[in-house]
Amino acid sequence: MSFGLIDGFGRIHDSLRISVTDRCNIRCFYCMPEEAVDYARREEILTFEEIERFVRVAATLGVNKLRLTGGEPLLRRDLPKLIERLASIPGIHDIALTTNAVLLSQHAQALHDAGLRRLNIHLDTLDRERFRQITRRDDLPRVLDGINAAVNAGFSRIKLNIVAVKGLIEPDITPMALYCRERGFEPRFIEFMPLDAQSIWDRGKVLLADDIINLLSREISPLIAVPDADPRAPATEFAYADGAGTVGFVASVSKPFCLNCNRIRLTADGKIRYCLFAIEETEVKSLLRNGAGDEEIAEALKRNVSEKWIGHQINSTKFVPPPRPMYSIGG
Ligand code: SF4
Repeated sequence: MSFGLIDGFGRIHDSLRISVTDRCNIRCFYCMPEEAVDYARREEILTFEEIERFVRVAATLGVNKLRLTGGEPLLRRDLPKLIERLASIPGIHDIALTTNAVLLSQHAQALHDAGLRRLNIHLDTLDRERFRQITRRDDLPRVLDGINAAVNAGFSRIKLNIVAVKGLIEPDITPMALYCRERGFEPRFIEFMPLDAQSIWDRGKVLLADDIINLLSREISPLIAVPDADPRAPATEFAYADGAGTVGFVASVSKPFCLNCNRIRLTADGKIRYCLFAIEETEVKSLLRNGAGDEEIAEALKRNVSEKWIGHQINSTKFVPPPRPMYSIGG
């Protein structure tokens, strides 16, 4: 396989994150406004055929891993059909999904039958009142049902994404870690990033990975760093000294990992983003809709990656938040 997506720093890009919708059925305060969400018009959203075609082209350039995100991807009707189509593309050997699991109990079996094997479930707390406070929806019971349905459907590689907002989730850290240990899931603590629609982020609200490592080591079992299976993966892995499980940390603020970044993104409305925090984007929807050849789409992809910066600027005074909030980028 020739890798065609190499940026100016020599980083090879083989992982594509695809937002299949910007819509969501919950309202996490660190992502979306409660009301008046500025969604893209339906006709702006890429069709399954357009997504599949884009991935076919990207696969010829070395992309082999896909992650489907949103908004909330399970709001997209017939998502298992898209997964089947993407899983059949030569060169694609790994497909994962990030969901808030509110609708998972209805779709888990169909997703597994379609060939999906990796699930990241976004859940910050097991406390119903705090869940309501964070998401502005009373859906925790449905999320827990969804998780059980995923286990019953045969999903064995389940990770829980936990957004570590300081002053809010500290009481949840140990209960979430124990919940995962008991079920063989891996909790992923994600440092809070400045991607929210209401600009509430500040450094003081970031619960640092090191603080969580110390807390879990004190309250459960010492955490020992394990060698990265894939040094380009965003999470740093730790294992409990007692052998009962692992914990992942996505320390984007305190320990940026941009130098190993292998990710590019496709937004639901057809823009390529070389970084979660990118200011510029490359529009490909018109290429996909107006009869452009695969070569033109490949050129747009290569051009976007060739313009990629060294990494996010969160820790520099030059930092400018991206013009899109998280729900319209996708994790
Ligand atoms: S912030 Fe951007 S460059 Fe850094 S790891 Fe994330 S996507 Fe890659």
